[in-house]
Amino acid sequence: MSQCIFCRIAVKEVDAVIVYEDEHIMAFLDIGPIRPGHTQIIAKSHVATFEELPPALAARILHLGQQLARRMKQVYAVDRVAFLFTGGDVAHVHAHVVPMHEKTDITSARYLVGSDRPVWGSEHLMVHRQILENVRTELGFVTSPDV
Ligand SMILES: [Zn+2]
Repeated sequence: MSQCIFCRIAVKEVDAVIVYEDEHIMAFLDIGPIRPGHTQIIAKSHVATFEELPPALAARILHLGQQLARRMKQVYAVDRVAFLFTGGDVAHVHAHVVPMHEKTDITSARYLVGSDRPVWGSEHLMVHRQILENVRTELGFVTSPDV
């Protein structure tokens, strides 16, 4: 058994609010979202970094990101959705998909402890399960086989 938190989510040993799942990938809502709807897309198999992904799996993740982005634009009335691999927190490949309300939504500021820079969404960093469930309902991507 892997101790990697995303591997544990992939096998449902750790709970997550899943918005998409198939044999190869899974998408779930970030528990500390930059903006409501902030989603993580992971490969179910443990791959540490995006450059190690087999191209077909990378394409599958990107394609789901495109689908989520189109839906997020409708739901959150934003012009842009960010898609990025950072890998700074969990060493298991994951793409962040974030509705962009402000150009500064994607910064490293939220990772900086003690920063005096304003960080949007700090009130959302300790969200409750029901809030995430409401976001999943808004996105309408529930395809988990056990839901
Ligand atoms: Zn892993």
